[in-house]
Amino acid sequence: MSFLKVEKISHHYDNKPVLHDISFSLAPNEILSILGPSGCGKSTLLKIITGLIQPANGKIYLENRDITDLPPQKREIGIVFQSYALFPNLNVFANIAFGLKMKKFNKQVIQERTLEMLNLIDLREKAYCLPHQLSGGEQQRVALARALAPYPRLLLLDEPLSALDAKIRKNLRLELRKIIKAAGATSIFVTHDQEEAMLISDRILVMNEGKIEQEGTPEEIYTHPRNLFVAGFIGNYNLFSPADIGEIGRQKLENTFYAVRPETINIYPCHEGKEAFPLHPHSIICKGKITDVNMSGNIVVYSIAVGSSLIRVDKLNQAGYEYLKPGTRVIVEIPYQALHKVG
Ligand code: ADP
Repeated sequence: MSFLKVEKISHHYDNKPVLHDISFSLAPNEILSILGPSGCGKSTLLKIITGLIQPANGKIYLENRDITDLPPQKREIGIVFQSYALFPNLNVFANIAFGLKMKKFNKQVIQERTLEMLNLIDLREKAYCLPHQLSGGEQQRVALARALAPYPRLLLLDEPLSALDAKIRKNLRLELRKIIKAAGATSIFVTHDQEEAMLISDRILVMNEGKIEQEGTPEEIYTHPRNLFVAGFIGNYNLFSPADIGEIGRQKLENTFYAVRPETINIYPCHEGKEAFPLHPHSIICKGKITDVNMSGNIVVYSIAVGSSLIRVDKLNQAGYEYLKPGTRVIVEIPYQALHKVG
């Protein structure tokens, strides 16, 4: 049984269409990410699910009940925004307890549930601090606890990590998933950041221009992008046109675009006279020249000119790894099994 069912939702602003026949469903306790570039319609879809906007067409069912015409306050949906939107004059405890008070739970339930939430976000010792005395990451944890406290039927997170600096953001990603899973909340997480979507969610919807381009687990989306858009949006894929493949491989494959992940390509420096390297038996082999080397922490990123193409190759920066220098001539090996048709 699906917990949330979004059925053929379409919407337009004035006469400009922004959502086209969006359908998907959500299982209980599942975290689904809606991933797509800015302007693709993510916020509009979220506002339709919360009830802030009425869709031009389509239906929304929550636990088999049609909620399309229900006002937002009756949907029992918790929301976490990019800006934490905490009440500045209330301390952490009072912020978290706020929704429970509004729903008129009795005092003891409010006390117990608020403490449970404080433990869940690991901020018990800051219960009596005001929001401005907390770091950005802590404030966002409080915003999450506040949304979860009144037992929402659905939790929506709208770019909740975007306002945080890079380090806090990275730490909070996995914590966010842990907290949501521990609370057992069925959730939709909206983001334009593919790494964030992969780490946090059970399933991902990739959106572009108001349409769903692909739906799948993070692994499926990453390893089997369905088309050029998804391959271009996810994971730094190399995209080769039929002409590129003809030039690189000097062989004809199908007349379509291919995507190749940078970590699946091998490179070996060319040595004078002999070119001994352990080749995959079923690979495209070509010669290239390193034009650029960049280190991004655990990954060394090579740019390699092969004919008129520039190929990206990622290598793990393990202890003792010897970088190849710009200008080095290399043999490039692309295993056939690493080629994904995306045309
Ligand atoms: P995203 O959240 O993916 O950035 P939005 O749902 O905010 O996308 O916007 C989708 C499209 O609709 C964009 O082209 C945006 O400019 C337009 N849009 C959003 N809100 C309005 C509005 N209130 N009136 C007119 N156009 C809007």
